[in-house]
Amino acid sequence: MGSKTMMTDAYEQFACIGGICPDNCCIGWQVELDKKTFQSYQLIQESELKKKIRRYVYLNPEAMDPSVDYGLVELQPNRRCPFLNSENLCSVQLEKGEAYLSNVCAGYPRMINRVEGVLEYSLTLSCPEAARLVLDREEPLKWIPGSGELGRRQILNVDYRSSDYSGQFLAENLVMLREKTVDILQDRQFSLARRIRLLGDFFEASDSGRKPLSKHGKMEIAGEEYSQSQKNLFWDKINSRFNTPEYLDSQRYLDKMKPSVQPMEKGTFPKKLEMILENYLVNYVFQSLFPSGESRDPQDAFLKLGIRYALVKYGAMKISPGGDEASRKQLIELIQCFSKATEHHFTYFDDILDHIKRQTGNTRQIRTLIEL
Ligand code: SF4
Repeated sequence: MGSKTMMTDAYEQFACIGGICPDNCCIGWQVELDKKTFQSYQLIQESELKKKIRRYVYLNPEAMDPSVDYGLVELQPNRRCPFLNSENLCSVQLEKGEAYLSNVCAGYPRMINRVEGVLEYSLTLSCPEAARLVLDREEPLKWIPGSGELGRRQILNVDYRSSDYSGQFLAENLVMLREKTVDILQDRQFSLARRIRLLGDFFEASDSGRKPLSKHGKMEIAGEEYSQSQKNLFWDKINSRFNTPEYLDSQRYLDKMKPSVQPMEKGTFPKKLEMILENYLVNYVFQSLFPSGESRDPQDAFLKLGIRYALVKYGAMKISPGGDEASRKQLIELIQCFSKATEHHFTYFDDILDHIKRQTGNTRQIRTLIEL
């Protein structure tokens, strides 16, 4: 019997779809090699592989962790990993077996954190198959218990213990705040926009270490009201400024967010698309150790989640809003591209939040703009 573990119910179903993947992780992203894999590559004798290893594999001068990024594989000018064959399969794995994959390649898109000694497994949505499993469902995403140990080659993303964060409200109360957040996000008696508003109330009340209000406390704000077209105009401007090739290295995502395509102004956002957005947010909460993963300030933590919600919903309002099979697929693809484009950008959400704070007067105003 191993240690206690928790995982999203989509986690266990994941299997890479390799050659038929529409947005292969070996295209566009730098490939990292742990020290053991790097060394094993130096001993490979098969002539074609050996040639490519000499040409493309090199020591990482900025390595941070030998079990992650000791070496790197240079991408080809077309941004493909040189070991990817014409059928989009890994030639190292095909010729030498799975044991020759680096820790990063073997682990992706799995994410592992340890929270108060419990191993937590989830999937990152930059992978199309992971995005399909997590998002393309009507039932809420669940966190299920299990047991096991951290595998020898598995990479721990964050090892969190509340005792390390004395006096830091968000980090000290992470488990309780995360549970409340998921409770609110999955409360389907309300529209998702309303749930976002309630979550904002909850974090406003939690600010400065005050005891949070109950889930639907009395603080619900009236806020400064904006019409749908004013909100759309605001997010048009954010889109034009931050979803650009200078900012994001993903033509696939930028094509979907083209400023020339206008978001819908009227009509109710379909429930079936709301469920996809809800699952996206809940997965983000599980995986990123929300609310303390990205921020020390309760309001900023909430606003960064809110910016994700608003940007994806704004993008969703540009696609066919019917809630039919086609629009569901398009929204899942949009979230996958968005995740791939932004997940590894270290300042994207901070930059947007700073910009919005400079443009608007106060947090309440920002909150009403987020409630798209
Ligand atoms: S992105 Fe996901 S499904 Fe596609 S090749 Fe990578 S791991 Fe496999």
